[in-house]
Amino acid sequence: MTAAIAAIVFWPGLAVGSFLNVVAARLPLRRSLVSPGSACMSCETPIAWYDNVPLLSYALLRGRCRSCRATIPWKYPAVEIATAVLVSACFLRFGLSGEALVGALFCCALVAITVTDFERRIIPNRIVLPCAAVVLAVNTALRPSPEWAIAAFGAALFLFLAALAYPGGMGMGDVKLALLLGAALGRTVPVALMTGMVAALVPSFVILARHGRKGRKMRIAFGPFLALGGVVALFAGGDLLDSYLHLFGS
Ligand SMILES: [Zn+2]
Repeated sequence: MTAAIAAIVFWPGLAVGSFLNVVAARLPLRRSLVSPGSACMSCETPIAWYDNVPLLSYALLRGRCRSCRATIPWKYPAVEIATAVLVSACFLRFGLSGEALVGALFCCALVAITVTDFERRIIPNRIVLPCAAVVLAVNTALRPSPEWAIAAFGAALFLFLAALAYPGGMGMGDVKLALLLGAALGRTVPVALMTGMVAALVPSFVILARHGRKGRKMRIAFGPFLALGGVVALFAGGDLLDSYLHLFGS
């Protein structure tokens, strides 16, 4: 039953992913999300509905614009697939529940933030703050406890102090993202922060190895790594936290 629901939500998940592409491209520029309709980035020909079917159109057009044959960036189908997989995974993990819905919203926000931070080094307030507020309210209503608020503000405070200690590393966008992570994850938010920071070490070492001392001044976008940590903690945070606590005998 759960598997069937997960398989069904995969398809609207693709459509949501398609919408997230629009959000990530337009919201940082403060452009309307609905008009004008999508157009080719090269020749500006409006894209017909039959060429705008998630995934399928990209495959049928072989990744090229119908009019000018310009290459369509692979990030579009990648975002659609990632969104659909994450939304399905939420229903597979949490069943048909409010938990699954709030998890899906959380994952969608993380996908959009990953794109905007990677491309423009921006974590838009208009994505992260409303999502943090909704997720905090819904989680507190579903499972009443101060846990969600404490985790949200605790995680944000932690990254705020980290940003103060290492200016040029993290930014205020990352602090607001931590607010969302805490609201969504509760007690497992440390798993997300640790996973994100450890994952971010990999490209940091690569940059340092390649560019030496000059590399110290190069910034990497931290948001995508925190988002990765958020996904890991959402699906495996409880198990990881338990085994960690078990390891240290408490
Ligand atoms: Zn074109």
